[in-house]
Formats: sequence, C-alpha cells, structure tokens
Amino acid sequence: MMKTVRISDVTKDYGRVKAVRGASFELGQGELVALIGHNGAGKTTLMKLMLGLIRSTAGSIEVLGDNPAAGQFAGRRQLGYLPENVSFDAALTGRETLAFYARLKREPVASALKLLDAVGLGDASRRRVGTYSKGMRQRLGLAQALIGHPRVLLLDEPTTGLDPELRQTFYEVIQRLATEGTTVLLSSHALTELEERAGRVIIMNRGVKVADGSIEKLRNIARLPTKIRLKV
Ligand code: ATP
Repeated sequence: MMKTVRISDVTKDYGRVKAVRGASFELGQGELVALIGHNGAGKTTLMKLMLGLIRSTAGSIEVLGDNPAAGQFAGRRQLGYLPENVSFDAALTGRETLAFYARLKREPVASALKLLDAVGLGDASRRRVGTYSKGMRQRLGLAQALIGHPRVLLLDEPTTGLDPELRQTFYEVIQRLATEGTTVLLSSHALTELEERAGRVIIMNRGVKVADGSIEKLRNIARLPTKIRLKV
C-alpha cells in the first residue's frame, strides 16, 4: 500500500505544554483511520502538523512525499481539511459558500458545486446556510474539504454533536471516498460503533500514541489506559 503520510517520532511542544510526544505512524492510500483521544490528547495538533500549519519540535513528517512545513510544499493542494467547529456565513447559500471556497483554493467553481450532490446537499444547495441543521453544515464542511479532490483528507471531530443517523450518513460518505483511494483520517473523542467501522484505529492519550491497529487487534490488548474509557 502506498504511504501518503509518514509521522516519525514526532514531538510538538507549545512552550511547556507537550501536545505530542514521540508519535510515529504511517497512513496508506485509501485507508480510513479513526484518531481517538480525549480533549487535549493531541489530535488537532497532529492534523495541523500534517497540514504544515505548525512545525514539529522534533521528529519528521512527510505528506505525499514532502515536508508539509516546507515553503514550497507541492502537496498542499492535495490535502483537504475540515477543522473542528467550522462555521460558515449564515447569509450565504450552500452554493455560494462552496463557490467562495473554490475561488479561495483556485479550483473550478463548477466542479466544486458538484460536491454538494456528492454529500447529499443537492436539494438544499440554494438555501441559506443559516437554515441548515448541524448535520447539513457538517456535510457542507466535508464538501468544502473535498474541493480539488484531495488525496489526503483530515477531518477534525466531524461527527461530534450529530445524531446517530447523521453520523451514519457522514460515515458512509467518507467510507466511499476511502474506497476510491483517498486517505481519510477522522478524529473523535470516543470510540463508538461508528469509529469501529474504520479499518484502523489510532488512540492518543496526553500526546502519546497508546494503540494502533484494527479494532479486532485492539480488543485483544488486555490493558488499554483506563483514562481512555473505551467502549470496546
Ligand atoms: P480536542 O479534542 O480538545 O480538540 P485534541 O486531542 O485535538 O483535543 P490538541 O488540540 O492537539 O488536542 O491539544 C493538545 C494539547 O496542546 C492541549 O493540552 C492543548 O491545550 C495544547 N495546545 C494546543 N494548541 C495550543 C497552542 N496554540 N498553544 C498552547 N497550547 C496549545
């Protein structure tokens, strides 16, 4: 399997706060991986490192064959990111919102608008975002992250606060993307039945990677940190 992301012994300190401590893992093309951990575990920091938004204190990061923090990072356009708690202008319609992001990313507006159908917002595309439910806004966020057909998709807690049915729908969309070859990393506070459907689960606890593998493999680990309170 081709590796799209390589994290090797990465540490990130924010002053005295050690957000990530010596984490290593690789992600393959078409892999759907759930990144699990409580608040402050280091999930967002790992994503920002992969995006090149921040630099590591130690260790190396390679995304699509390059260092994402390098000035001339060629893979930037092939990364999609849905930040935690993304918010949109309530006065714009779904179409206007995506057109805005397409222009920002210098991608064709017409192909960006097709993504509204792909995430099931086709019928609502001419409605103002202010009238959207939380689930619809999250799907709009996903469509925004998909502009330019990224090879690596980083989704920061996209299903938090969604009801089970919406979480399910959201998951189906990203499972399809992974099947089509996109690397999808999805973070979450909890390991529920939904995250268990990801091919692989990485568990972070206070900046340390404490488990990594298929859910079957994790079930066989006798003593996971009690702080994680897994529902396995
Ligand atoms: P959450 O579920 O709250 O998003 P997380 O697992 O994404 O948690 P991070 O946001 O990566 O965790 O935070 C890891 C640690 O780093 C936390 O202790 C946090 O307070 C700290 N931290 C994050 N960003 C900064 C920053 N810019 N300056 C100082 N400390 C930070």
